[in-house]
Amino acid sequence: MSKIIIDASLIMEHSKTELFHFTRARHPPNPSIDLSSVGGPVISSKPIWWYLGFYFDYKLNFNYYTHFYATKCLSTLSAMKMLGNSSRGLLPIQKRLLYRTYILPIALYGFQLWFFKSAPIIKNITELKKMQRRAALWITGVFRTSPSKGIKAIAGLIPITLYLCKLNGRHHLRYVSIPPSHAINSLLDSQHAKNQTPHKTATSKLAMKQQANLKSPIKDVNERLNSIRNCFNPLHPLFTPGSQIVDHFSSRISFHSPSSSSDKDLYQHLQSLNLAFRSSQVNYNSAAVIANGGIKKFHVATAAAYIWADNSVIKQLQVHSLNITSIEAELMAICTSLIPAMEIDNIHNITVITDSITAARKILESKVDLLQNMFIPLAATVKTFLSKDGRNKIRFWYCPSRAKWPRHKLVDDQVKASSCTPTFPSKESHLFSRKKECDNTLCEWQTHFANSLKKGHYFLNFEDEKGIVIKPTYAKGGSWLPVIGFTNSLYACFTHMTTGHVPIGEYRQRFFPQLPTSCPCGKAEVQTREHIVMECDRHDPSMRPCNTIINSFVHFLTDNPEAFSFDNR
Ligand SMILES: [Zn+2]
Repeated sequence: MSKIIIDASLIMEHSKTELFHFTRARHPPNPSIDLSSVGGPVISSKPIWWYLGFYFDYKLNFNYYTHFYATKCLSTLSAMKMLGNSSRGLLPIQKRLLYRTYILPIALYGFQLWFFKSAPIIKNITELKKMQRRAALWITGVFRTSPSKGIKAIAGLIPITLYLCKLNGRHHLRYVSIPPSHAINSLLDSQHAKNQTPHKTATSKLAMKQQANLKSPIKDVNERLNSIRNCFNPLHPLFTPGSQIVDHFSSRISFHSPSSSSDKDLYQHLQSLNLAFRSSQVNYNSAAVIANGGIKKFHVATAAAYIWADNSVIKQLQVHSLNITSIEAELMAICTSLIPAMEIDNIHNITVITDSITAARKILESKVDLLQNMFIPLAATVKTFLSKDGRNKIRFWYCPSRAKWPRHKLVDDQVKASSCTPTFPSKESHLFSRKKECDNTLCEWQTHFANSLKKGHYFLNFEDEKGIVIKPTYAKGGSWLPVIGFTNSLYACFTHMTTGHVPIGEYRQRFFPQLPTSCPCGKAEVQTREHIVMECDRHDPSMRPCNTIINSFVHFLTDNPEAFSFDNR
């Protein structure tokens, strides 16, 4: 090692050298090297090596590493109890935010090192589950024997394994956007290496058998990148500062949408749209483009568009694509129709009518974006069109499908009526791949939650205002937290009631059968949750819920805060 350093004209201090032995053996010999005979020290290899904030063990399973960070988070969580408990302090929704923004990033720092396909991760996950359970107890304010899955769902915390799967997927997709000169490109397969020479340890250099036996995050990245389309070009000249569309032509591209989503504003907007369309049809140098895109069965995207000039349809277009998101379908519709419209002779003004003004704005923004490969041809044509003549202008008008504006409805109906069945599998777009992963993660959680007993044998399934059973989610605070997470004590009582883990007769009958189980009102031998809510005279009868809609239970608890608290004895 010293020779290599000296050959590179470098000098390394002796105190900077560290000795570490990596091995897969279960009980590896770890002998010391005795250099005392030559006047040197006795060198012994370390069991754990700390480097750049990572703890490496000899088997590279990162158990100690996860343990270290999970323990650090547990101590932080213990300290955070000073900030709020089940009766005062930070609100549950704030506690959740604090946990997600402050604790989770510490616990999951560098998790990509140990979380990959076929890696032994049970020990690491167990540490993190413990940490997450402690956080859920703190957020909900319930006592520590409450069922894990139930309280985590009520706190809006997705199971840590699923969360890691989702984060890991995002991590794989991020390899698309790394610069071509990044060293890691040389480890990827040649089609993803961005013209770099493969490293001698790259997966493409391995024999078939070695590739089959390989367990590595890089292998997972290759598999993921094989399933998506190349969609990222950070150094495209169109997006360099100074040559973007917004730099030169921002005054000649305009966007028109209603000032608010109210029906009155929409009506006024449609009146203006009528005038704008009429004007585009009577002027000789104007044309109107009406475009719409949508997603159909089998993830088939359909984009349809009509080009109008002189009060008649001069061109009708329809294209299909596979495995893209709805915004990409809208963008595809605009691209498909606007490019031919700009190529018509003597056209100076183009009115584009679309139901996605967000997609239209992407063209003007021309920034490095995941959608950029979709709008590069369009942005180039727009630039040529606008620089050709100073009179050339493009106006984008918003027209939602629900407004049923007659000419837009024609296009909308065409999109809805089209049917196309994919005959070949197709790669996915970056956005679609990300969305699919999120949907699958959520679906897996909801299915598992519905069938799991670990959420609590007595877990109460509520319905929302539409009568649909509430399923766990993680976006915007989850399914339960936004409804009731604004008072600490109420939220704790609600969680007690939902999980059935509260010192009432029914709970004592299960866990402490020697204790009395009857209700103090004398009407029930076993004080069940149903009795407290529906029958018990000790609580205000006016607010008794008559269905399983969550809000009626929230009203009951607000009026009877002692019903499921520890005071109810
Ligand atoms: Zn009673």
